[in-house]
Amino acid sequence: MESRYTPKAIEDKWQQTWAELGLDQTSTDPNEPKFYALSMFPYPSGNLHMGHVRVYTIADVIARLKKMQGYRVLHPMGWDAFGLPAENAAIDRGIQPAEWTYKNVAQMQKQLQKLGTCFDWSREVTTCSPDYYRWTQWIFLQFYQAGLAYQKESAVNWDPVDQTVLANEQVDNEGRSWRSGAKVERKLLKQWFLKITDYAEQLLTDLDKLKGWPERVKLMQANWIGKSVGAYLEFPIVGSDEKIGVFTTRPDTVYGVTYVVLAPEHPLTARVTTSDRQEAVAAFAKEVASQSELERTAEDKPKRGIPTGGKAINPFTGEEVPILIADYVLYEYGTGAVMGVPAHDVRDFKFATEKNLPIKTVIVPEGGDASAPLEAAYTEPGVMVNSGEFDGTPSTQGKEAIVKFAEAQGFGKARVQYRLRDWLISRQRYWGAPIPIIHCPKCGAVPVPDQDLPVRLPENIAFSGRGPSPLAQLEDWVNVPCPSCGTAAKRETDTMDTFIDSSWYFLRYPDANNDQQAFDPAITNDWMAVDQYVGGIEHAILHLLYSRFFTKVLRDRGLLNFDEPFERLLTQGMVQGLTYKNPTTGKYVTPNLVNAGDPKDPETGETLEVFYEKMSKSKYNGVDPEAVLAKYGADTARMFILFKAPPEKDLEWDDADVEGQFRFLGRVWRLVSEFAEKGGDRTKKANLAELSKPEKDLRRAIHTAIQAVTEDFEGEYQFNTAVSELMKLSNALTDTTCKDSPIYVEGIQTLLLLLAPLAPHIADELWQGIGHTESIHLQAWPEADAAALVADEITIVIQILGKTRGSIQVPAGADKAAQEQYARESELAQRYIEGKEIKKVIVVPGKLVNFVVA
Ligand SMILES: [Zn+2]
Repeated sequence: MESRYTPKAIEDKWQQTWAELGLDQTSTDPNEPKFYALSMFPYPSGNLHMGHVRVYTIADVIARLKKMQGYRVLHPMGWDAFGLPAENAAIDRGIQPAEWTYKNVAQMQKQLQKLGTCFDWSREVTTCSPDYYRWTQWIFLQFYQAGLAYQKESAVNWDPVDQTVLANEQVDNEGRSWRSGAKVERKLLKQWFLKITDYAEQLLTDLDKLKGWPERVKLMQANWIGKSVGAYLEFPIVGSDEKIGVFTTRPDTVYGVTYVVLAPEHPLTARVTTSDRQEAVAAFAKEVASQSELERTAEDKPKRGIPTGGKAINPFTGEEVPILIADYVLYEYGTGAVMGVPAHDVRDFKFATEKNLPIKTVIVPEGGDASAPLEAAYTEPGVMVNSGEFDGTPSTQGKEAIVKFAEAQGFGKARVQYRLRDWLISRQRYWGAPIPIIHCPKCGAVPVPDQDLPVRLPENIAFSGRGPSPLAQLEDWVNVPCPSCGTAAKRETDTMDTFIDSSWYFLRYPDANNDQQAFDPAITNDWMAVDQYVGGIEHAILHLLYSRFFTKVLRDRGLLNFDEPFERLLTQGMVQGLTYKNPTTGKYVTPNLVNAGDPKDPETGETLEVFYEKMSKSKYNGVDPEAVLAKYGADTARMFILFKAPPEKDLEWDDADVEGQFRFLGRVWRLVSEFAEKGGDRTKKANLAELSKPEKDLRRAIHTAIQAVTEDFEGEYQFNTAVSELMKLSNALTDTTCKDSPIYVEGIQTLLLLLAPLAPHIADELWQGIGHTESIHLQAWPEADAAALVADEITIVIQILGKTRGSIQVPAGADKAAQEQYARESELAQRYIEGKEIKKVIVVPGKLVNFVVA
């Protein structure tokens, strides 16, 4: 064994050895309990960043631990490989998306291996591979057959210069195209949706089943689903048989309605607009059409709206109220119309004040004055006033009473509404799974028959970034006979949102090489649910909600036998880098131009702000994983990441702490290699009944470490404290005087076993160094011996007049009186009490003895 720890010399070797031994292959022994450890698969951008390193290290430690604990562990990896960057690379650099993607995959796979991860690469899943997207298409057709996939007109971002549809990411903050710079317009196109709203209630109530999820994520999903209980009420239009339907959560305020607002796109808008208002309404609608939904609904923006000239009747009062259109009302949400109650709604109050619309109080606090003008909307519960027969009713009861009344009169009913809307999955792009539908002039939309799947993406396409989607420009590909009647028909040219690919990939890993089915239900049901999922909080809503939705639909199709895909979820914190910023100019400064002791802007000489922030290129605060691995090795990088912060907390990158972990591994190396050089006999057995005190102390330290590290690895995965425990054990081994004892052998071996999941290379190298022939990763996790944990002696603090003077050791079994006796007779106490009058002795058993002396 080398006397110095040199990671380079060992890490490549062990990675190769593990691969040759097939150590990372998934065991399928049905006698072992299963554990499915999964980290969110990356987009193959080409470069691993520190965020990746962190998430894959966390999942890897869990997988390695569970293997040692006797589980059969499924720990796979794959690539979320469709998406826009590949297509942009094709437009910018003329490289085919597939070529670009696979090159990046190969590069990142190498980087992941260098990190010492134990992924089972025989189950690799790549979403852009026809072997995979064939089944994505098949699953889409499952949705279609269940009536959960449908087409509807919907707005897209339209670049009028390049005549192309843009993804949201291709539109900048000012609403301009990334490529042409043209102001992006909204254009209606027929697009595909998945009916996630059918599952809104289940997705909401089943959140309660997710005991192993962070509360924060569950709350975000609940808010996103946004259930509200209220009423659907109809306002007849003056001079027409038609009615405007609105949804409200405050039916108790309906007597306070002073206007009604329609979305500009609402079909009724044209019909209610009076002739003198037509021009203004059309102009306003056109302007709103160019705005994104976000712009329209932003809280901090003034609400814009204009009257249509039309009037509606409040069915409760018979009063006529004006009908307006406004940007903040969206046609896609709810009924596309709202009732305006400025007295009792913050947004309506602001809008009505600005537009000079009447404000009518209908709820007052107990004993309140209905005629006093309002300074702001009153949104609390209270008593109904100015509300006809409901006057005097508490508003909380009024809600139900109003709904009952509306139902009886036939102009309304109770309704539950969700904020969640159906999922728009059409993308007018090339690099995605083609939607497997053929449009026939006779039969309509016809699914591509299963045996014709996959609908392959054509290769060697010219990308201009202009005109219709690249697929729509390929005549040969588009024109096909109808699978049903043979008439000349056209393929659907939209591809699917990449979030579809990632909504089911975890179901594929258990049976990743199946070429007959998306997965064998028996195999996938056996491995699912994922026991531990690890990934970023940024996926709290879309990916994690979509995956739950897919699971429930496939369960209802009889393909799965469980409700929820992810048993436990760990959302790891960000990796932050040291950041320098000029507070006046707002410019970031690259650290190698800054003197860390006295940070000044090299250009202006101003003192810089110094703080930690999420690593990003534009802030020059990133740390390149390759550089860290090259300098310190993967084991140190892993140890640092695990030690620096608990997994769910943000982690501040700190070179000094990286050095610290490198030094710690160096100490472990020296400790074990010294032992190995002495030829320590591993076979000698200790007689536990006849241990010396140093042996007992060391054995207690060993088993305390086993117990503490095992606990830290369970539940919340407190790897940081586990590393601290290993440091303690290493210190105990260094300091002990019984290095020839079999207990010392036990200590060295335990240290390596506990270290193995965290720093897998050095652990295996040292394990071999002390004479083992089988990999440490095939060994059983050590178990704590409860008998060894019992201390023979305990520490008692000695106080004189309440002031701590030191501590003494007393036998663990000593009772209160004996503890006082030991304390009194101790050399330490005698120094202070000798010859003095002891007025009182306070004993806190097992903790301290306090002498009150005169
Ligand atoms: Zn047909």
